[in-house]
Amino acid sequence: MSKSYQAVFHTPTIDSIPFWSACNQEQLLLQRCGECEAFFYYARRLCPHCGGEKISWHQSAGKGTVFSFSEVAVSFFGPEWDADLPYTVVLVDLDEGPRMLSRMLKQDQARVCIGARVQVSFVQVHAQKLPFFELL
Ligand SMILES: [Zn+2]
Repeated sequence: MSKSYQAVFHTPTIDSIPFWSACNQEQLLLQRCGECEAFFYYARRLCPHCGGEKISWHQSAGKGTVFSFSEVAVSFFGPEWDADLPYTVVLVDLDEGPRMLSRMLKQDQARVCIGARVQVSFVQVHAQKLPFFELL
């Protein structure tokens, strides 16, 4: 099985640059509201729970529980993705609260199930490390 990974890359915004920079240091950062204290993901200027503006960054433990997953067996992005097929897209409920869309590492994708405990694992894809997940 190939160890290569392809990805559709994000366009960093002024709000998300700290998140992507931390990924390259193998740290998963989450924003937290200073008013209602909720963590949230993805990066925003205002708290999605209360509209608060006092937002700060915190390092996540990178652990969570699989809420759902789906195996992708068709390349939607051209033949360069064929070596990645099939891959598993996963929705993870992080222990801090936010739900995060990501992918499973290839070695664990056949054994993933709803409710499985997972932890973040950073994968180098071209010039960016991306936060994928592996089984705990
Ligand atoms: Zn808030």
